[in-house]
Order: sequence, then C-alpha cells, then structure tokens
Amino acid sequence: MKEFELIQNIFQASMMANTQGRDDILVGIGDDCAQVAVPLGQSLVFSMDTLVEGRHFPIDADPVDIGYRAVATCVSDLAAMGAKPAFFTLALTIPESDPQWLAGLAQGMAELAEPIGLILVGGDTTKGPLTLTLQVHGYVEADQVPLRSHAKVGDDIYVTGLLGDASAAVPIVTGEVQVSSERFDYFYDRFWRPTPRLIAGMALKRVVHAMMDISDGLAQDLQHIAKASNVGVMLDAHALPISDILCQWQPDTAIALALTGGDDYELCFTAAPEMAEEIALITQTLHLPCNKVGRIVESGFEIDGYHGERHGWQHF
Ligand code: ADP
Ligand code: MG
Repeated sequence: MKEFELIQNIFQASMMANTQGRDDILVGIGDDCAQVAVPLGQSLVFSMDTLVEGRHFPIDADPVDIGYRAVATCVSDLAAMGAKPAFFTLALTIPESDPQWLAGLAQGMAELAEPIGLILVGGDTTKGPLTLTLQVHGYVEADQVPLRSHAKVGDDIYVTGLLGDASAAVPIVTGEVQVSSERFDYFYDRFWRPTPRLIAGMALKRVVHAMMDISDGLAQDLQHIAKASNVGVMLDAHALPISDILCQWQPDTAIALALTGGDDYELCFTAAPEMAEEIALITQTLHLPCNKVGRIVESGFEIDGYHGERHGWQHF
C-alpha cells in the first residue's frame, strides 16, 4: 500500500499533473475520479494505447525514453483529429516499485506533456509485467473533425515529415545491428522521440478532407482511409519522403520501409487539389516537410514504382 502511495506521489508532484491555470480541470490526481468541464462549443475526443515491454519497446530501455515515447505515440492520435491536447490518464503495470525508474518515466512523460498542456489527471497502478496504457483526451470543434471517411475522389494525398526511419531504427535500438555513432544517434531519436504533429493537425483540419496518423505503415494505414471513404488509392513510390541518412544506409529497402514500416507518427491526409497552396503555406510556416505522394481514385490500391510487400505492423 505504501509503495503505491509513493508512486502516486511521484506522479502528483510532476509538473504535468499541475492543474493550476486550467479552468477545465476541476479535480486532478488524488480523488476517486478526475473531474473535467469540457469548454463550451468543444467536443471531447479520446484515444487509448497500450505499450508492452518487449513487444512495443525493447526490454530494459531507459524509463525517460519510454515515458516520452508513450505520450508521443498516444498524442499523435489527437493530432490526426485536429484536436488540442487536454488531459490523460495512465494505467501502469510494473514488476516492482523502483522510485528512480518511476521518476525517470514521469520525467520523460512530462517532457512532452507539459509544454503541450496535456495534464495527467489520474490512473491506476498494478504489479505485473511492464505495461503502460494511456488514454489521451483532446478538445475539438464538433464540426471540424477530419475523419477517415471524408476522402473524396480527386483528392491529393499528402504526408508530413519523413517515412521509414523509425522502423529502420528498431534493430539499432535493440542492439541487433551496430552502426556508426552518427547513425546511432539519428536513428535512436527517430525511434524514441517521435514528434506528434499537433500544431499541423490543428491548422490543417480546416483545409483537409480525411486525416490520420501513420503508426502501422503508410500502405496499411491508407487502406483504412480507402475503406472508410469507399475510394481507391494511387501512390507514387518515388514521391515518398525519405531521409538521406536512410537512403544511404539502406538503399535497397528504403522505399519498402517508408511504405510498410510503422512508428513514424507522421500525418497522412487528403485534400482537394485547389487547397495545395494553402497547405504549402501552413506547413512551410511550421517548417514541416509536407509531400504529395498520391491521389484518391475511384477504386483499387496501386503503388506506382513498387511491387514488394505491402503489409505493415502486424498486431497479432
Ligand atoms: P481508487 O482505489 O479510488 O481507485 P487509487 O488508490 O487507485 O484510487 O488511486 C488514488 C489516486 O491516484 C486516484 O486519483 C488515481 O487516479 C491516482 N493514480 C493512481 N495510479 C496512478 C498513475 N499510475 N498515474 C496517475 N495517477 C494515478
Ligand atoms: Mg476510490
């Protein structure tokens, strides 16, 4: 019992649990429930993600990295809905209560959560194999949500950032593959420190049709938009944004990684061709690369310039 009180104290003392200056959060950590007043005119969007040690991140990883990445991957879903981050809850299963490890986890979470106004309002703590479940909540105007079902025939398909780095990084962060220190540093960050495209998501929601975040690989994730919107997809493999460092390290598989590798947490969206200028303006202002990689067609799923495997991350 004492141990769990200690855990609560670590999280309660963290700046990310500080509700000061937040009119929407009436009760945070410490009572039986948290209490939130959703701002007038906003709707609440929420999403849950579970991360299991050895499955979603390597065993014996740095708790600061685990904390940062857990919040980043979860918050990426808010970006895809064009929502503003508001608060989250954390179900934590840990094999033992190591205060130093927990302080590291809280520090990594706070590093991302605090600057974006995402407050930890509660959770649950249990003993068992290391597993983190986060539920993130955001606010968005009810009529401005860029759903997966909103793609239209003739839309251009865009992606933000660079694709393929995070999945290429997996054998590096697990220690299976040795690379130069320059490559190690680059890929380590690409796996452990994804940047959820929150500001882009909020700015783009008015000009796009469908939007989602890429967590399981572009080809697989785009199928969800195609299915939900009852449309087809035509992708141009040579238009995919790939880092120079990945092209140099894995010239033969870079395109496959960009199409099927997961964990990049970039945004993929569709928009009418006449929105191109506005999209360029928004993303250039944010210094965020944004590339047209294909187009929405009536049916089918073609990838011009690529004939390999299309399956992304398999959950089972
Ligand atoms: P209860 O028994 O009423 O469910 P708990 O003893 O589980 O309450 O938790 C007490 C308080 O600490 C609650 O406000 C809960 O939300 C919070 N809490 C427990 N574990 C966590 C955690 N891992 N992260 C954040 N808050 C937590
Ligand atoms: Mg209770």
